[in-house]
Amino acid sequence: MENEVVSKNFIEQEIEKDLKEGKYETVCTRFPPEPNGYLHIGHAKSILLNYGLAQKYNGTFHMRFDDTNPTKEKMEFVESIKEDIKWLGADWGEHLYYASDYFHIMYECALKLIKKGKAYVCDLTPDEIREYRGTLTEPGKNSPYRERSVEENLRLFEMMKNGEFKDGERVLRAKIDMASPNINMRDPILYRVARMTHHNTGDQWCIYPMYDFAHPIEDAVEKITHSICTLEFEDHRPLYDWVVRECEFDHPPRQIEFAKLYLTNVITGKRYIKKLVEDGIVDGWDDPRLVSIAALRRRGFTPESIKMFVDLCGVSKSNSSVDYAMLEYCIREDLKMKRPRMMAVLDPVKLVIDNYPEGEVEYLDVANNLENEELGIRKVPFCRELYIEREDFMEEPPKKYFRLFPGNEVRLMHAYFVKCVGLEKDENGNVTVVHCTYDPETKCGSGFTGRKVKGTIHWVPAPYAVKAEVRLYENIVDEEKGVYNKEDGSLNLNPNSLTVVDNAYLEPSFDGVKPYDSFQFVRNGYYCVDAKDTTDEKLVFNRIVSLKSSFKLPK
Ligand code: ATP
Ligand code: MG
Repeated sequence: MENEVVSKNFIEQEIEKDLKEGKYETVCTRFPPEPNGYLHIGHAKSILLNYGLAQKYNGTFHMRFDDTNPTKEKMEFVESIKEDIKWLGADWGEHLYYASDYFHIMYECALKLIKKGKAYVCDLTPDEIREYRGTLTEPGKNSPYRERSVEENLRLFEMMKNGEFKDGERVLRAKIDMASPNINMRDPILYRVARMTHHNTGDQWCIYPMYDFAHPIEDAVEKITHSICTLEFEDHRPLYDWVVRECEFDHPPRQIEFAKLYLTNVITGKRYIKKLVEDGIVDGWDDPRLVSIAALRRRGFTPESIKMFVDLCGVSKSNSSVDYAMLEYCIREDLKMKRPRMMAVLDPVKLVIDNYPEGEVEYLDVANNLENEELGIRKVPFCRELYIEREDFMEEPPKKYFRLFPGNEVRLMHAYFVKCVGLEKDENGNVTVVHCTYDPETKCGSGFTGRKVKGTIHWVPAPYAVKAEVRLYENIVDEEKGVYNKEDGSLNLNPNSLTVVDNAYLEPSFDGVKPYDSFQFVRNGYYCVDAKDTTDEKLVFNRIVSLKSSFKLPK
C-alpha cells in the first residue's frame, strides 16, 4: 500500500523489547468488548490493532466477551459483535472466551487475597465509602472494618456469596493504601452483592466482581501477554499490576494504553445512538448514517477500507480527532480499481434521438473499469430513447457550461456525438424531452478523429433501464452547529441527512445485483445495494461516498 507506515508504533516497540529481553516468549492479545451495544469504528481500531499485533508477531488473538456486569448485557449484542469482528477479518480461531466462565476463578482469587490479608469485607454504605475515599488533594481515611481478622473476612465473604446480605449491604475491598495519591489504589471494591440474573450463569451468583478486579484476572487466566486498552485506564494500571501480582499468576500480563479513535462530527456514544433509534430518526443501529460497524457495512464500506483508515490514523498516546473525510478517502481508494463503473441517472429527463431508427437497438462494448482491464467489458444497449441527468441539459446555459443545450454537441459516454435540436416542456415550463440528432460517424472507439466536443454526458437506454431507489446521505449531525447542543446536550441534527430518490434509472447491467454489491455510478459516486430494504421487486442503493472531495492526506 502506498501510504503504509513503515516505522514501528510505540506498542510494537514495547512488544519487541519484551520479546528481546525474554519477558515474554510469544505474543497474545485480545479484544474484550462488553456485550452492551453494537461495535463502532473506534472498536474497529482496537480489534485491528490487537489482531494485527498477534499476526505480526506470530502470536495468538483472543476474542473475549467481558460479560461480568449482567445489567446491561444482551445476547443480541454477542451475536452482532461476533459478526462484525468476523467481517473485519479478525480471526480468533478457537479462542472465543466469556469472562463469566471465570467467575469461580475470580472467587478463588478473592479468597486468596483475604487469606493473605490483602482484602477485607467492608460494611460502610456506598455514601460512606465515597466520603472515606478522600479527594485528589486529600488522602482518604481507613475504613473501621479494615482490620477485621482473616477468619471473620472469610466468614463474611462466604455469607455475601450465599446471599445472606442485601444488595449493596457489604462489599469486598482490596487492602492497599487509603493515602495513595492514586485514588484507584485507595482500597478499591473487588466484589459487590447484587441479585441479577446473568445471561450465562443465571442465578448462580449473587456477588459480582468489579471491572478492575475481573479484567486483569481474565487476561492472566488466558495468558494474555499484552493487554492493550485505551488511555482512560492509564491510572488503573497500578491496580491492574497489583491484582496480577497479589493473585500470584504465573504469566503476568502487561497493560499498555493507547489513545481512542475519535472522528470529528460523528456520533459514537451508545446513549445517543439508542435515542436516535428509539425516536425513529434512524432505522436501527445499522442505519447507514451511523458509524457502527454494521452501519458502515450496510452503507458499503469494505473491511479493507476500514483497515486502511485505521492504519492511516496510526497508534498514539495522545487523544485527537480524525476527519470523517479521511474515512471517505479510504473507501474511494479501495473501490476505485475494484468495482465496475456503471451509468445511472438519478434525476432523469428523456432524450430522443430523432434520426435514430425507431425500434432499432445496438449493443455497445463498454469497459467495466478503464483503469483496470481485468474487470472486463459489458454490453450496453443503445437506442432512440434514453434518459440523461436533468442537470446535464440547460435551455439557457451560463458561460462555460459544456454539456447539452440547444445547438450544442456533446458525446454520449461510450456512444455517439449528439446535437440538441429542440425540446418539449410541460405546462409548468419544465423540460420533458430533449430532442437530438446523432452522427453515426462518431461512434466511440470507431477511430473517428474529426471534430471535438467539450462535454461528455452519461445516459441509460430508456426501454431497458432498471428502476431503483437511491438514498443520498449527508452527515446526520449539523456540522456548522457542532454535534451537541450547548444548552441541553442534545444532538444538533441535520434535517437533510437523508434524501430518497425514488425514480432513478440504471443501465440494465444492474439487473441481478446482490446485497452489498457496490459500483461507481460514473460522474457521481460510489453506491452499494442496501441489504436490508432491497427486495425482489425493489432495488435500493445507498450512496457510500461521492466522487468529489477536497480531502488531502495528512503528511
Ligand atoms: P462503554 O462505554 O460501554 O465502556 P466502550 O466503547 O468502552 O463502551 P467496550 O466494550 O468496553 O466499550 O470496549 C471494548 C474495547 O474497545 C476496549 O478495549 C476499549 O478500550 C476499545 N475501544 C472503545 N472505544 C474505542 C475507541 N474510540 N477507539 C479505540 N478503541 C476503543
Ligand atoms: Mg468499556
